[in-house]
Amino acid sequence: PKKGRSMTTSPATAPTRFPEMDPERRYGMIIDGRSMQAADGAVFRCFDPYEETEWGYVPEASAHDVDRAVAAARAAQPAWAETSPFQRLALFQRWAALVREHVAEIARIQVHENGKTLTEMTLAMGSIANAIEFCAHYATTLHGDTVTPMMPGHRAWTTKVPVGVVAAITPWNNPIGLLGWKLFPALAVGNAVIVKPSEVTPVSTIRLVELAVEAGFPPGVISVVTGAGAAGAALVEHEGIDKIAFTGSTATGRRIAQAAAGRLVRTTLELGGKGANIVFADADLDRAVEGIVVGLTAGTGQACNAGSRVLVHEDVKDEVLERLTKALAALPIGDPLDPGTAIGPIASRPQYAKVCGYLDVAESESTTRLVAGGRRGAEPFGIARGLFVEPTLYETPDEQSRLRREEIFGPVGSLITFATDDEAVRIANESEYGLVGGLWTTDVDRARRVSERLDVGVVWINTWRAFSGNVPFGGRKNSGVGHEMGLDLFDEYTHIKAYWLGPEGR
Ligand code: NAD
Repeated sequence: PKKGRSMTTSPATAPTRFPEMDPERRYGMIIDGRSMQAADGAVFRCFDPYEETEWGYVPEASAHDVDRAVAAARAAQPAWAETSPFQRLALFQRWAALVREHVAEIARIQVHENGKTLTEMTLAMGSIANAIEFCAHYATTLHGDTVTPMMPGHRAWTTKVPVGVVAAITPWNNPIGLLGWKLFPALAVGNAVIVKPSEVTPVSTIRLVELAVEAGFPPGVISVVTGAGAAGAALVEHEGIDKIAFTGSTATGRRIAQAAAGRLVRTTLELGGKGANIVFADADLDRAVEGIVVGLTAGTGQACNAGSRVLVHEDVKDEVLERLTKALAALPIGDPLDPGTAIGPIASRPQYAKVCGYLDVAESESTTRLVAGGRRGAEPFGIARGLFVEPTLYETPDEQSRLRREEIFGPVGSLITFATDDEAVRIANESEYGLVGGLWTTDVDRARRVSERLDVGVVWINTWRAFSGNVPFGGRKNSGVGHEMGLDLFDEYTHIKAYWLGPEGR
C-alpha cells in the first residue's frame, strides 16, 4: 500500500499476540455504512508501545474523504431525526448487545494502541454498553416546555431539535470512553455523527462503529474518518458540520474554537487538566494515600483527570510521603496485558519523549527535588523493551516550577506543602486549568467550605475519579467549555426552538 505518514521506523515483523494485530491487516474508514480506504490510497500504521512494533494499516483521510463523509451524513440525518426515540432505542439495544459480546476484543485493541492496562480498559469497556442504553432510554424523555408568555392572548411552547451533523474528535488516552459521551447522546436525539479518532488509537473506534453498522444503523448516520490533525481540521472547517465535540489538548482546542468562530459553529471542548488532590491534617490517611496513588497513576498518569498536584498539610507531610513512596514503589510495571500490571508503558514515542523531557526539566530546576521514582526506559525494571516511566513525585515549592504548572500527561506528580485552608485553596486555584480537584478530610464543614471555593468543574471529596453517566463532567478556565454526561447531556446536541401562537380573531 502507498504510505502516507509512518508513526515509527520500526519494522512490522515482530510477532503479534492477537489476530487483530496482524501487521498486514488493512482497516477501513466507515463512510455511508461501508468500509472504505482513502481515495488517494494513503495509509498510516498503529504502534504498540509495549511491543514497540507497528501493526495494521489505517487510511489517512484527505479533505476529499471528509467531503464524502459529510455528504453521506447530511443525506442521512433528516430521516434519522424523523425516527421515533423507541425505534432508535431498539437499534441502540442491538448495538449494546454486540458491544457486550466484544468487550474483551475492543479492550485488547486499546491496550495495543495506547499501552493502558487490560484491567483498566476492560473495566472502562464494561460500562460502554450501559452508556449506549442509558442515552437511548433517556432520549425517550426529551421534552420542551409550555410557557405562559407575557403578551396577552398568546401561547408559546418550545421543542428541542437535533443540531444536525456533529463532528466528534477524540484523543488517544481513553478512545472509546471519551468518544461514547459524544457519540451516544448526539445520535440518540437524532443527529448524524462523524467521528475522527486520534491517529494513535483509530482501530478501537473503527470496531465500535462496525458493530453499529452490524446492529443496523442506517448508512451515513455514523461515519469514521481516520487520520492525523489535518483530517480533524478538514472536518472542523467543513461547512456541512453543525457542531463540534472535542476532547484533547488545550492548544488544539483553541485552534478548533477559532475555526468554529468563523462559521459560528457550536463547540464542546474537553481539554487539559492539572488536578489538585488536597490532603488535610484530619484526613483518613489510608484512604487519602490510595486516592493520591489513583490520581497519579491511573492510565499511567495519561488522564485529563489526573491528580497531578498533591497538596499536603505540613503536619502530615512526612507520614503521607512515607506511605506514598512505599505504595508507588510497590506498583508492578510491565506488560499491559498481564492482569497483575499496574503501570503500563507510555502510549506513543512522542508522548514518551514529552514525559521524559519533564524529568529533564525537573533536574534543571534548582528548587525542585525528587522524592519518589524518576527512572525511565525498560532496562531499570528488568523488562526487554517498552516505553516506561515509573511513578514519580517531585517536591515543587516554587510557584514558577514548570513541573508544578504544566500538564505533563504521564505518571509524574508535583508535591506541595500548605499550612492553612486558605493557602490550600489559593494553591489549588493557581493553575491555568480548572477541570477536577479533590480533598481529603473528616471535617464536613471544611469539606463544604473548601470544595465550594475550588475553581474547577468537578470536586471529589474523600474519593477520586468517581464517574457516572448521569453526573456532569466538564472544565473551567483552560480546561474547556461545556459539559459531557449529566442529566443535561442532550443540551449540547440540540437547539431549543420556540413557537408562538397569536391571539384569536385578530
Ligand atoms: P491532541 O489535541 O493532540 O489531539 C486530539 C485530537 O485532535 C486528535 O484526534 C487529533 O488528531 C486531533 N487534532 C489535532 N489537531 C487538530 C486540528 N487542528 N483540528 C482538528 N483536530 C485536530 O490531544 P491528544 O494528545 O490526543 O490528547 C491528550 C490531551 O487530551 C491532553 O491535554 C488531555 O488533558 C486532554 N484530555 C482531556 C479530557 C477531558 O475530558 N477534559 C479527557 C482526556 C484527554
